[in-house]
Amino acid sequence: MKRILITGGAGFVGSHLIGRLLEEGHEVICLDNYFTGSKKNILPFMDHPYFELVRHDVTEPYYAEVDEIYNLACPASPVHYQYNPIKTIKTSVMGAINMLGLAKRVKARILQASTSEVYGDPSVHPQPESYWGNVNPLGLRSCYDEGKRCAETLFMDYHNQNHVDVKIIRIFNTYGSNMNPNDGRVVSNFIVQALKGEDITIFGDGTQTRSFQYVDDLVEGMIRMMQTGKEFQGPVNLGNPNEFTMLELATAVLEVTGSSSKLIFKPLPQDDPKQRQPDISLAKEKLNGWEPKIQLREGLEKTVGYFDALLSETASKKAV
Ligand code: NAD
Ligand code: UDP
Ligand code: UDP
Repeated sequence: MKRILITGGAGFVGSHLIGRLLEEGHEVICLDNYFTGSKKNILPFMDHPYFELVRHDVTEPYYAEVDEIYNLACPASPVHYQYNPIKTIKTSVMGAINMLGLAKRVKARILQASTSEVYGDPSVHPQPESYWGNVNPLGLRSCYDEGKRCAETLFMDYHNQNHVDVKIIRIFNTYGSNMNPNDGRVVSNFIVQALKGEDITIFGDGTQTRSFQYVDDLVEGMIRMMQTGKEFQGPVNLGNPNEFTMLELATAVLEVTGSSSKLIFKPLPQDDPKQRQPDISLAKEKLNGWEPKIQLREGLEKTVGYFDALLSETASKKAV
C-alpha cells in the first residue's frame, strides 16, 4: 500500500484515477483548487478511510510525505484554459516546479499528465513521441501547449540534475463520465446538445480529426506507466488510434442518443489542429502490451448514460 498524491484529483481524469487507486488499497490525497473540478466527482470517496481532500493551488508550495505523485492539475478544455491564460501557464510551470521540489525532497516517483497538444498542429501523422511538434508560441492555445512543453522540460531537468524519478505521459483526447457538462470539449458539448435537443455546434467544416480515448483505458495506461522501471521516463503517448472527423463524431452521437438535433457550423477557433492520431507502439512495448479496449461506440454509450442521468437530476432539482 502506497500513499499517493493526485493533483487535479477533483477533475474528470483525476476522479477516475482516485477510484482505481483506492480500489487497489492505496491511500490517496487529492489536491485541487476546484477551478474546473468539482466536489461532486469525489463525493463517492469522502467517507473512505484512506481518502483525504486538500483544497490547494499547485502554484503554491505544498508539503506532505508521499510515495507517488500524479500531477494532473491544469484546466484541459480550450474554453477553460483560455479564460485566464496567465494562470494556466503558471499552473503548468509553477505547479511542476513545486511538485518536482516535493518529489525531490521526499524521493517520490512523479508522473506528469502531458498532452498531445505538445505536437501542436502536427505535420507528421500519426504522431510518434520522437516528433518535436508544430506549436505556435504566441497564439490562443500557447498558454496550454507551451506550459505543458515547459513542464516536460522541467521533469527531464529534475531527473537529469537531481535524479528525481519521473514519468511523462502524453494524453490524447479522452472522454467519459465525470466530465463537466459545461466543459466545452467536443464530446461533452455534442452529447449535452443532443440530449437537450439543441443544435450540434461543428467548428469549421468538421473535417478536422481527433482520436478519442475512453477514460478507463487512459487510467489503466497511467497506472502501468507509474509501475515501469526506474530507467524509463517516457514520454509515452496514451490514446486510442481510431481517428474520426468531427462530422463522424456528431453522427455517432446522434445515433447513440437517438436525437434529432441539427448540425450547425461555427467558425474554426485559431490554431485548431487539423488532425491528430497517436502512434502507440511505444506504449504497447513498454506498458505490457497496453492498448485501448473500449472503442468509440461503446464509450459513447457509457458517457451518454452519465450525462443523461446528470441532466435529469438537474431538471428535477429545478422543478422542485
Ligand atoms: P479537468 O479540467 O476536468 O481537471 C483538471 C483539474 O485540475 C480540475 O479538478 C481543476 O480544478 C484542477 N486545477 C486546475 N488548476 C489548478 C491549480 N492551479 N491548482 C490545483 N488544482 C487545479 O481536466 P482533465 O480532463 O481531468 O485533465 C486532467 C489532466 O490531464 C490535465 O493536466 C490535462 O492537461 C491532462 N490532459 C487531459 C486530456 C483529456 O482529453 N482529458 C488530454 C490531454 C491532457
Ligand atoms: N517545494 C514544495 N514542497 C516540498 C519541497 C519543495 O512545494 O516538499 C517547492 C519549493 O517551495 C520550491 C520548489 O518546490 O519553490 C522547488 O524546489 P527545489 O528544492 O527544486 O528548489 P529550491 O527550493 O531550491 O528553489
Ligand atoms: N469542436 C467542435 N464543436 C464544439 C467543440 C469543439 O467542432 O462544440 C471541435 C474543435 O474545434 C476541435 C475538436 O472539436 O477541432 C476537438 O476540440 P476539443 O476542444 O474537444 O479538444 P482539442 O481541440 O483540444 O483537441
